[in-house]
This record gives sequence, C-alpha cells and structure tokens, in this order.
Amino acid sequence: MSNNEIPYKIYLEESEMPKAWYNMRADMKNKPAPLLNPGTLKPMTLEEMSVVFCEELAKQELDDQTRFFEIPEEIKSFYRMYRPSPLVRAYCLEEKLGTPAHIYYKFEGNNTSGSHKLNSAIAQAYYAKKQGLKGVTTETGAGQWGTALSMACSYLGLDCKVYMVKCSYEQKPFRREVMRTYGASVTPSPSETTNVGRKILAEHPGTTGSLGCAISEAVEVAVGTEGYKYVLGSVLNQVLLHQSVIGLETKAALDKYGIKADIVIGCAGGGSNLGGLIAPFMGEKLRGEADYRIIAVEPKSCPSFTRGKYAYDFCDTGMVCPLAKMYTLGSDFIPAPNHAGGLRYHGMSSTLSQLYDDGLMEATSVEQTEVFKAAEYFARVEGILPAPESSHAIKVAIDEALKCKETGEAKNIVFGLTGTGYFDMYAYEAFNDGKMSDYIPSDEEIAKSLEKLPKV
Ligand SMILES: *Cc1c(COP(=O)(O)O)cnc(C)c1O
Repeated sequence: MSNNEIPYKIYLEESEMPKAWYNMRADMKNKPAPLLNPGTLKPMTLEEMSVVFCEELAKQELDDQTRFFEIPEEIKSFYRMYRPSPLVRAYCLEEKLGTPAHIYYKFEGNNTSGSHKLNSAIAQAYYAKKQGLKGVTTETGAGQWGTALSMACSYLGLDCKVYMVKCSYEQKPFRREVMRTYGASVTPSPSETTNVGRKILAEHPGTTGSLGCAISEAVEVAVGTEGYKYVLGSVLNQVLLHQSVIGLETKAALDKYGIKADIVIGCAGGGSNLGGLIAPFMGEKLRGEADYRIIAVEPKSCPSFTRGKYAYDFCDTGMVCPLAKMYTLGSDFIPAPNHAGGLRYHGMSSTLSQLYDDGLMEATSVEQTEVFKAAEYFARVEGILPAPESSHAIKVAIDEALKCKETGEAKNIVFGLTGTGYFDMYAYEAFNDGKMSDYIPSDEEIAKSLEKLPKV
C-alpha cells in the first residue's frame, strides 16, 4: 500500500474497538514473580489483597492465566467519550527529519486528565462502585493520576481522597484545582492526617514528600476507613491489563492498513502505558507469531531498568504494601526533582521486569535536556505540546528514525504519546531559559539505596 493511502489519523469505528482487555501474563512462559506479604514473605492471597484493594481488582491482579477480560458495558460507554484515541502517522515529522522511516504515534492526551491514566481510573472506580464502596483513596505525584481518578469517581458518584506529594501540591496548583473541580479532596503529603505521615514529618521536618510516602498514607486511610479501598495508577498488573486498550487499538488500526510495526517505543515510569501499548505485540512475540523490537525509555535520573537490580523490594516508603519483584533502585531512592514527575518511581512493573529479564524487550535511558529538545522539536513540527514523560519516547523514536536515514531502511516505528504538557510549563520555562540540569545518580548513590533491599 502506498504512503498516501494512509490517513494522517487512523481512527477505529466503534464496532472495531476492543471488547476485552488482554492479559499478557497468560502468554508468558516465565510468569512475573508473585507479590509477597511483607510480614510473612509468602505470596499474597486474595483475602489479604482484598483488605487493601477492591475484590475484583485483586482477582485481576493475581490472575496470570486468563487471556482476555471482557470490558464491562459501563466502562466501554465511558471509553466512547474519549476513545478510540487517534493513531497518527507523523508525516510532518518524517519529512522534517528526512527519514525513510514511517512514524506512528498513539495519542492519549485527548481527555481532560491529559493522559492515558483515565483508561485504568475508570475501570478501578467501576469495580469499587460495583462492590458497593463509598469511595477510594490514592496518591498522586505530578497529578495526572489524581486528576484521572477524580474524573472517573465523579462520573460514578464515588468519593475520592487524593494524597498529593507536597512539592507537586505547591508547584502544580492548577492540577489540584482540576481534581477539586471533579469533587476530590486533595491533601498534601506527608500530612498530619495519618500515623505514617506524622512519623515521616517527625523524622524529616520540612520534607517535600515522595510518591512512596503518599502511597503509605493513602493505604493507611483506605484500610482504616469503612467503605474505602486503595487504588493505584501504575506498576500493578491490573493497571497494565486496563491499559492494554491502548495497544489493542493501535494494533487494530495498523492491521486495518496492513502495516506491520518494526519497533514499538514507550516511556516507562511504573510501566503501565508501555505495558498497555506493547501488550498485543508482545503477545504475538511470546506465542512466536511475529517479532518486534520493543524499547522502554526511562530518565537517566531514575534508571530502574538500566541501572537497577531485579529483586524483591518495597513499593512504598512506609513498607505497608506487598513486596514486588521488579527492577528497582531501592525504595529509599529519592530521584532528583526532574521534570518528568510521572517517571520518578524507584521500581517498575513486575510483568515488564520479567519480560526485560528474559530479553524480550530493551531499555534505554535519556537525559532531561535531550528529552526537552525532542519535545520542542515535536511540538513545532507535529503541533502537539507533549508531556515531559511522553517526550522520552519521542526522543528515542526520533533517534531510531535518524538511524533509518543512515541505513535507508523504511522501518515502521510506533510510539506512545501518553499525554499533553500544559501543566508542565515550569519545566518548559526552565528549558527555554537554559536553566535545566541533567542530574545523573552516581553508582555509589544507587548502591547505597540498594543495600536496604529487603532480604527475601
Ligand atoms: C504517569 C504518566 C506516565 C508514566 O507512567 P507509566 O505507568 O509508566 O505509564 C507517562 N506519561 C504520562 C503523560 C503520565 O501521566
């Protein structure tokens, strides 16, 4: 098929949209290691999981056999408000780069939360509602997850309590107000409202907080409040499952035009957008039906895959969550305050960690200023102002397209454009003013936080 027959934006008809989420784990020979109870060090049971999580979500979390989970009708109808998201053929970018490569990006920023996180937020809120709960608690770092969850909760009439990392709470007042507009209560973390918050404040007066600390507070409140459970926006298997809608739509759109992806690229924080985007491609790879190069891109300031260790670790600072086996920098690792807030997590999805360990995908890390150069280039050529997180994938997609220019290969490069950057203008300001720095942790620093890994 010749180029000009492929539209700038490939949309799917409603009838072509995914009807079920795909669970990659069902096709993995080496399953991701189970979550462990931090007290007994035994695999978490459904009963134990259900203390913290909604029951249906706990079931999804533990299920590594069921290949497809039907998407409930209510969730499909919510998806229809903002999905399918477009798969864009980046004709302008290709031309500007002078590359023979064909570049496609799946754009998840076309909803008020501005990112892919809404795909799982609505699913998690739905199962909470179905269980008859009053509300949910969660943490948010940069604010995208909290925003997405607030939207989903207000749609379903659930209460939503968000613990927001204090430095973001102060630096991103607009995100906070979006959440409040959707009816959520937003508390800066660490706070005086929980035992773990008070403890952390006593030990580290003046701390600006961290994701791990906000998680501990949100879990404490969920466990201690009748009718509430805790929900999480990334890392967990259930989140990757819901996010598979990204990859399934992408694959369906490519298949519609007979396009076979060669390289699939995504940014990796906790791994949910990447896990979702690659799901059907990885499925074919696992079943031996097709091969793809799959690349995870992380910041050099928080390099879990590329410099972390594959080991059991705590998911939160307060050590109340189950232990997960993952590529980790240690739960004590506090990444430098870089501008890709959504990628500043010490660990990585256990599913992606196993796939990476098995050599089924690659990982690379990039410096912050390089990422913003790519973001600026992309904004000027393709029009969309990308989120800093998403721009990690843009950077590597451009690099791969430039390699094709050298070799003359017309590869099909697909990347995930997870969101827009309108709430990240301080970051763009720092870049535009030439005041952005590239902090890269030393080996000693990483080794020091890895020393504190739990002995499992
Ligand atoms: C949260 C976020 C990410 C990173 O999270 P993953 O779980 O790794 O996908 C990436 N991009 C955007 C826009 C985000 O909001």
